[in-house]
Amino acid sequence: MKPADTLTAALRAIDGKGYGAYKSIAGAYAFGDYTLNIDYVQGDPFATPSRFRAVVPPDVARLPSALLGNKVQRNAAADYLNRRVYEALSAASRSRGSGKSGIIGILRPGQQILERTSLQISQTGEIVIRLVGGLPARGRRITAQPAIAMLIEDIPNALRRSFLPDSVDLEALERHVRLAEDSTALRDQLAERHLVAFIPNGAILPRRSGVDDRPLPAAEAIAFESPHSLAVTLEAPSRGPVTGMGVPVGVTLIVGGGYHGKSTLLRVMEKGVYDHVAGDGRELAVMVSGAVKVRAEDGRHIASVDISNFITGLPKGEDTRRFTTDNASGSTSQAAAISEALEVGATCLLIDEDTSATNFMIRDARMQALIQDGDEPITPFIDRARQLFDELGVSTVIVMGGAGDYFDVADTVIGMKAYLPGDITSEAKKIAGEYRTRRSREGGPWSLLRSRIPHPTSIDPRKGRKSIAIKVPTRKRVLFGTEELDLSALEQIVETAQARAIAQALAYGTGRWIDGQRNVSEALRSLGDEIDREGLDVIDARQIGEYADFRIYELAAALGRLRSLRVDAASTA
Ligand code: ADP
Ligand code: MG
Repeated sequence: MKPADTLTAALRAIDGKGYGAYKSIAGAYAFGDYTLNIDYVQGDPFATPSRFRAVVPPDVARLPSALLGNKVQRNAAADYLNRRVYEALSAASRSRGSGKSGIIGILRPGQQILERTSLQISQTGEIVIRLVGGLPARGRRITAQPAIAMLIEDIPNALRRSFLPDSVDLEALERHVRLAEDSTALRDQLAERHLVAFIPNGAILPRRSGVDDRPLPAAEAIAFESPHSLAVTLEAPSRGPVTGMGVPVGVTLIVGGGYHGKSTLLRVMEKGVYDHVAGDGRELAVMVSGAVKVRAEDGRHIASVDISNFITGLPKGEDTRRFTTDNASGSTSQAAAISEALEVGATCLLIDEDTSATNFMIRDARMQALIQDGDEPITPFIDRARQLFDELGVSTVIVMGGAGDYFDVADTVIGMKAYLPGDITSEAKKIAGEYRTRRSREGGPWSLLRSRIPHPTSIDPRKGRKSIAIKVPTRKRVLFGTEELDLSALEQIVETAQARAIAQALAYGTGRWIDGQRNVSEALRSLGDEIDREGLDVIDARQIGEYADFRIYELAAALGRLRSLRVDAASTA
């Protein structure tokens, strides 16, 4: 390791030279109490910025050990510090020449508390911070002065402000960690209370806009309030008892007039698989971690998925136990999404009529009379919802403002009225008794899903001379090798860094776990276990700070959307 002033000297020595001379500054530098590593030096000022890594020893950071005892605490503490580093670096980031000269950055956390590779805290309390920066140039000539200002002053000052014990707001850090712990604890209590979701009284559900995930300002939002009959009190380790609405396991309907807040409630449940930051409005609104939003997505690719529980007897005689298409319809895409979620162990399905295929959700008595069963390939979801719960233990929460036939299969009916929930289960059941639907039940017994073995050769991240070419412009869009992967239907991906990690994990896991022997569930579970064991860094040998943790459901859903994917049926189905 070299002292920091050798970096100053090295920069002076290459002043005015061609940009390539920057390569000589790679290495580790002692900045007094911590180390700054220059891990990667960009090839020119317009290319992907250079990568830096600060390693802060435990006795310098002096983080309270009470906040480092387990993974939930360490991840939350790291998430907190990542936010502070982001603010400090943003203030220090400015153009200092051509291209990306002078730009400094780190992953920007959203509203969820997530594990990210951009800032990690070890069990001993060592902090590793990974940032990127554009080394300054005029044209393609190195400019030493701004480089020295950036590397010797601005970045160190910003980092120091974010991690030195004197500048860290320890109370805020502790609140952040306790919030994540409380939220996790409430989520862990759901199963034993026979609940799938919990929304605390006072929560703010609506967001500012479809593209702004922050809460609607309090003056415009109606705070959440549980109906009496659904109110439960759970015990949070730090803040004690928390009261709110418990959504029981089983089949739950959310009904109500248009624009009364149904989809907003469902969206909060979707995101309840994550912990939210203070001030978000969704703090302590939690969902069982096996909850998966499924929706229609016509045009998507489907690779040999068993959708036969929902669809059989297609006009061209396709085998729906291994249904393959490059251009799915609304109903087949929704059926596939459900099968893919169940394949990797989903315990609760979340469905919104706004994003569902009508013919997948319901066929009423008149339509049944007109189109005979033999001419209709679809067994609508209404005839599977009970079975899913009674036989497989899989709950569903369905937003359904348009079809009262669903009253027959529901355990709980939540009515949204002017953004407030009511328990209207008995009213709905009474109506179901008075107005018979006349529709007849469709579909036979639930058949076990066929197991699928993905072919490693069909997952190919190569492009040109690059063995892994992955670009992730947004959380909805991944360029994977020569293929474009559309993740826009995966509403539980909340950060671009998650989409990036999912794509990288697929590339990493192919050959290793996706090996032509293991089925989808075994392969992805093994991959997920390895990541849990070794840490998220295992997916990329470059050890870069660009990834955020993700769930197996989104990983499976991304795999299933690869248009190149080919699978075999397992010999033992
Ligand atoms: P629905 O699905 O019942 O048609 P939405 O959930 O889409 O209704 O909500 C309609 C609008 O009302 C949205 O713009 C949403 O942000 C807003 N909204 C939802 N819940 C609340 C609330 N609690 N307070 C204020 N506005 C809300
Ligand atoms: Mg809606």
